[in-house]
Amino acid sequence: MNMRTIGLLGGMSWESTAEYYRLLNELTRERLGGLHSSKCVLYSVDFAEIERLQVEGRWDEAAEILAEAAKALEAAGADLLLICTNTMHKVADQVAAATSVPLLHLDTTAEAVRAQGLRRIGLLGTAFTMEQDFYRGRLARHGLDVLVPDAPGRSTVHKVIYDELCLGIVREESRASFQAVINDLVTAGAEGIVLGCTEIELLIGPEHSPVPVFPTTRLHAEAAVDRALQP
Ligand code: GLU
Repeated sequence: MNMRTIGLLGGMSWESTAEYYRLLNELTRERLGGLHSSKCVLYSVDFAEIERLQVEGRWDEAAEILAEAAKALEAAGADLLLICTNTMHKVADQVAAATSVPLLHLDTTAEAVRAQGLRRIGLLGTAFTMEQDFYRGRLARHGLDVLVPDAPGRSTVHKVIYDELCLGIVREESRASFQAVINDLVTAGAEGIVLGCTEIELLIGPEHSPVPVFPTTRLHAEAAVDRALQP
């Protein structure tokens, strides 16, 4: 079996990188059966360093750390790269430029939304992802109409991501607040909800939303396994 090796830029946070690792292996076993598992290499950063650079707006320095990590993954034999966080796709172009290994962008999410025939979606993620153009603009370029929560809703979602989910804390009260935010987006016209942060699917599943949800970690992992197993 000529399987490609997937390179993971992870640790942002490791709680969701662990999900990537599990999903890549489960999906590979589902496709190939038996004892098959994913060929992958992981570079896991210290998330505290990255988070500080995010808060201080030092994105070029964060990009440099990820670019060096991408080169290490290339040297370790990766045939394709995943940045295992939506937020750090802000520096995806710099990371892609640092190596000759193709980067599998999170555009896979927009493709999944379009495949279900939906156009207007609600976006949940970090404040960077919900508020800045690098992510919303990219979804819009795929023909999607993007709604984000109001300011208090965005603040709740952002806080739960960094103060709870990235630390492995899953609270019922936070699930209820996310559901309230989702319901507001649906009332405003959202036909689907993009879980645009790789930890959100630890808290929210299809059963918690009246409209379809698009879990970016799972969709990204599925696209990676497709690519890894392509002849
Ligand atoms: N994993 C999150 C995301 O997908 C947030 C952590 C980060 O800031 O990278 O955006």
